[in-house]
Amino acid sequence: TRTPVTVTVTGAAGQIGYALLFRIASGHLLGEGVPVRLRLLEIPQAVKAAEGTAMELDDCAFPLLSGIDIFDDAGKAFEGANVALLVGARPRTKGMERGDLLEANGGIFKPQGEAINAGAADDIKVLVVGNPANTNALIAQQHAPDVPAERFTAMTRLDHNRALAQLSKKAGVSVSDIRRMTIWGNHSATQYPDIFHAEIAGKNAAETVNDQNWLENDFIPTVAKRGAAIIEARGASSAASAASAAIDHVHTWVNGTADGDWTSMAVVSDGSYGVAEGLISSFPVTAKDGKWEIVQGLEIDDFSRARIDASVAELSEERDAVRKLGLI
Ligand code: NDP
Repeated sequence: TRTPVTVTVTGAAGQIGYALLFRIASGHLLGEGVPVRLRLLEIPQAVKAAEGTAMELDDCAFPLLSGIDIFDDAGKAFEGANVALLVGARPRTKGMERGDLLEANGGIFKPQGEAINAGAADDIKVLVVGNPANTNALIAQQHAPDVPAERFTAMTRLDHNRALAQLSKKAGVSVSDIRRMTIWGNHSATQYPDIFHAEIAGKNAAETVNDQNWLENDFIPTVAKRGAAIIEARGASSAASAASAAIDHVHTWVNGTADGDWTSMAVVSDGSYGVAEGLISSFPVTAKDGKWEIVQGLEIDDFSRARIDASVAELSEERDAVRKLGLI
């Protein structure tokens, strides 16, 4: 029998947590036959709700779930963690300024970075889902100096999957016929979904679609504003698709990308494609043996350049703001 992998999930009693935990426990996060031990972190008021979810997890009798522990203390929750999914965050409420939002989240992600630094396993992999995800990941990473920076990532896989879905509809093909989709930049309205390097059945996607008006006025805004459209339609946020994308992100990181394909992940920039070093920005990445690499050598035309630069500028502003607040 294999040793269980320890997975820590924060915000476990929230909407995304409710959709996420059952898929982790049924074995979809890591792959075939890998047992998991869950460590759930919640704020004290939500511990009882997390206990209710844990009761349901017990009742599923998942063969791969070897234990669940619940904490309201980050120091304990990250002990021995091999994978950490940072989902809990302070939502933006009415009238809240961006600075207030960043400050409130600094108060969450700084201690969590410190706790990961102090207690997580040597092979810890961190995915930040809670928004503003890229900057929350940066805050946590900056407070975990003993953990290699590349272990801190933020989620743009939902944007990536949304882009695949939109392109597959437009082209009348299955999502599995599409390769090399890319989301660049911040997980925000400025993100840039790029089909100029994507392929449909092996042919260039932008050339195959050949519709610049659709690309600019339909595809890009639809992908960027999909979360709001779902809230409008179902009266609740897109928690299940976010959870599904978190599963995909970690599964790909651990098990690798297919030959000839890549995925989108927000990772620490090494200066590739003119993205300032140290920012956590979305790139096309390949993964193998539990390590990711930014795809190199793609040609970026003026249209794409302007959009990547705008999103990266927003990430720089967020970094400056959290620096000013003394959060990093
Ligand atoms: P959700 O579970 O719906 O969302 C959690 C976070 O994920 C939010 O920051 C949200 O950002 C973000 N997110 C990213 N992508 C999506 C998407 N597609 N759809 C929806 N959200 C997305 O929030 P809940 O309020 O239901 O639950 C949050 C839980 O976290 C609560 O139980 C709370 O107690 C807990 N919490 C735990 C902390 C901890 O463990 N230390 C700290 C803070 C909170 P956005 O708001 O921008 O949509």
